Amino acid sequence: IFGRGGLDEDALEEVEELLYGADLGPKATSELIEDLEEKAKSGDFDEAKFKSYIKDFLKNKMASVQANSPGDLFQFEKSDSKLPKVIMIVGVNGAGKTTTIGKLATKLTNQGAKVVVGACDTFRAAAVDQLQVWCDRAGATMIRAKEGANPSGVGYDALQAAMNEEADYCILDTAGRLHTAGNLMDELTKSKNVLKKLMEDAPHHTLLVIDAITGQNAIRQAEEFNKALDLTGLVFTKCDGSSKAGSAISIVDALQIPITYIGVGENVEDLSVFNLDEYLDALVG
Ligand code: GDP
Repeated sequence: IFGRGGLDEDALEEVEELLYGADLGPKATSELIEDLEEKAKSGDFDEAKFKSYIKDFLKNKMASVQANSPGDLFQFEKSDSKLPKVIMIVGVNGAGKTTTIGKLATKLTNQGAKVVVGACDTFRAAAVDQLQVWCDRAGATMIRAKEGANPSGVGYDALQAAMNEEADYCILDTAGRLHTAGNLMDELTKSKNVLKKLMEDAPHHTLLVIDAITGQNAIRQAEEFNKALDLTGLVFTKCDGSSKAGSAISIVDALQIPITYIGVGENVEDLSVFNLDEYLDALVG
């Protein structure tokens, strides 16, 4: 674009397409293009200025939300509290919930924390078995459904077990698909509310796991989960792939919820605390 002599109308159109292609979404894209149009009039707007301008714009959008991020939730510090921290992990099937829970549980047990995991996705036996493998490897206790149990019942049992064992964390895997989105949200809300019978302030965190390649669909998904569950954080998985997770900007902007972690591979160590500057460097270059 700059080789051709700057930000003329064609160039701006090309930039707009690139931003869409990066899943930035219509709102952020049109705001940014409007601003760039103004800047282009000033003339002295070279490539370096252009990139740093885009980065600053996106950073402004995200920084205040990210400032509220709880940071590394899973940095374990032994406290006097005998009550577990309760963390609910939600998201559609295939997003990476099981894998993320495996990574988080391992991160915690490696620090000496006692972890109980509740396998509340009673609709997918294979997912429960997979979670069991992760838990065995991590040295975490897994609570699974007794015959005929429903998801909220498993969550309740897991929290009860975590309290009995004086565990430090209780992490709950949840269903990611039911007949309709409405059913799923009802079930998840029920699962969340039932925890409060045992512990009034549970869950302490509700994290939505999102596949980075989901694109703009992810916004609608995230809005629905947030409406039902008051999310406290987002986890973007598969950031090791080709997607640069441009949709993250629209989601953070629309929901005002911070990204806490990113998944960068299928192995146990492939989970990082989200870093805004690194993300923008990867996105903008
Ligand atoms: P769930 O249905 O939400 O529990 O999703 P899973 O945890 O079973 O993950 C679905 C697939 O995505 C599995 O094949 C995982 O190995 C893979 N996966 C999860 N997280 C990541 C990640 O950060 N990077 C990559 N490359 N693959 C991932």
